[in-house]
Formats: sequence, structure tokens, C-alpha cells
Amino acid sequence: MKLVSFRADGAGRIGILRGDRVFDLGKADPGLPRCMKALLEMGAEGLRRAAIAAEGAIEAIPSHQVDLLPPVPQPEKIICVGLNYADHAAESGMQPPREPVIFNKLPTALRASGDPIVLPELSREVDYEAELVVVIGVGGRAIPRDNALAHVAGYTCGNDVSARDWQKGKPGGQWLLGKSFDSFAPTGPALVTADEVGYPGKLRIKCRLNGRLVQDSCTDQLIFPVAELIAYVSSVATLKPGDLIFTGTPPGVGMARTPPLYLRPGDLVEVEIERVGLLRNRVAGPPLASSE
Ligand code: ZN
Repeated sequence: MKLVSFRADGAGRIGILRGDRVFDLGKADPGLPRCMKALLEMGAEGLRRAAIAAEGAIEAIPSHQVDLLPPVPQPEKIICVGLNYADHAAESGMQPPREPVIFNKLPTALRASGDPIVLPELSREVDYEAELVVVIGVGGRAIPRDNALAHVAGYTCGNDVSARDWQKGKPGGQWLLGKSFDSFAPTGPALVTADEVGYPGKLRIKCRLNGRLVQDSCTDQLIFPVAELIAYVSSVATLKPGDLIFTGTPPGVGMARTPPLYLRPGDLVEVEIERVGLLRNRVAGPPLASSE
């Protein structure tokens, strides 16, 4: 099942994406919540009811007319993993870590597929990072590795957009802020449920910049696979339904190229993951000053 969040009449909705059509779940089953996090909080029962509602849904919107939101528009946490592909660690001049390197992104950075990545005035080195993103279904603390995949609702594509001059050039390394400028966390287009994706450890992952293949790898290259990441993070912090885990990026980022290849206004960045989808975002120039 491919679940999407979208906006209609000024409010959030959940839909099922089937082919090039989106079915509004709230119309098919008015008892279902209209927010993805609330649906995931219902656990397996929520996904089961969504599947039943989707079967009976008739009224569809052509997907190109749908105003997509990020699959989980307001997760409590966005957890990220650094240097999780051995060859990306090498191109970054780092040793492969002995334990997962964890940081986070602020949820205000989230955007949907189709939304612009807006280059901030404050950075000149904005980079792309294609990543498989885990969406937590059933939450928990101290989740054993053997049972960790049972806590996954599904997967989506993510771009861990990164201001390298903040991440590398600021005192101590500003990983959080350098990766949290507004629009630096595009995800989507859909949350593809775990049953449809199957085993997450052998998915082809690619990034294209203006049609040129710049990253091309497979999740079998992850140093710490999905189950281990869930076990590691939940040994410290309680995972909640809707939490996102960006699992790290393969080699080929702009920073590691000679000369470096940073994002420019007008660029098109595409993250494609086998069985998970295609996330497309255009790059836009700095925003006009706002009083908000
Ligand atoms: Zn990353």
C-alpha cells in the first residue's frame, strides 16, 4: 500500500496512491484519522482499516492534481545516520564508524516531493544526499534487533540536504543546523508499507542531478542495517509512531567531487529507490525576507 498525505480545502488528508490516482481515505472511511501520525498510532489496525477503505474507494483525484504533503508531515523526531556506507565514509575522509553516528534534522525542514529546495542566503555549499527513510509504526524503547523490523510501518525516499560550510566549517561542526535549513528534508512521495517493500537490505538507491546519475548504490552496502539502527536508537530514546530515520547516504555526494558539485537554482534533484518511489525536487534561489 502506498499512503500519501495531501492538502485539500486547506486541510491535511491521507490518501492511497494507486497508479496515477489518489483515493481520499477520509471519504472512504470517515472514521479514519486525517493525519498520518494518528493513523500510525492505531498500529496494525489502522493500516488494516486503511487497506479495506482503499478497496472500496471510488472517488479518485488524478495524482498530478494532488497537493502533496510529506508522507508524515509532523513527525516527533527525524533521526539521521551519518557515514553509514563504507565507501561514503571513505570519500568523506573518515574511518567507517564502529557504532552508528546519530544526529537529527528539525521537522520544520520537511517538504514533499515537488516542493522546492530553497537555497539559503547563509550557505554557498548546499549538497544532496539520497537516503532510504524508515517510518516507525509501533513505537518502543530498547527494541531488540531481532524484532526491530516489526516496528517499521514502511519506507519513503529522502534527501538529507546539507550545507557543507555549516557542517564542516562552523565550530564543532553544525550538523543539526547545517542539515535543518527550511526545505532541507524532502521526503516522499509516498509511505510505502513494509509488506510491499519487503526486505529493506537489498534496494537499489540512486540520485540524479539534472538527469545525470550522481549516486548509485544498494542498501546492502549499509554498515548498520535498518534493524540495527532501530535497536541502537531505541536503546537511548523511545521511538514513536511516525518517527523518521534517515539511514545514511551512499557515495557520490557533491562535496566529494573534484571540483565540488553544489546545488544551484533551477537544478532538479531526483532520489529513486527500488520499490519505494521517486522523490523529485527543484532547487530555488534564496527566499525573500519574511516577517514571519
Ligand atoms: Zn545523510
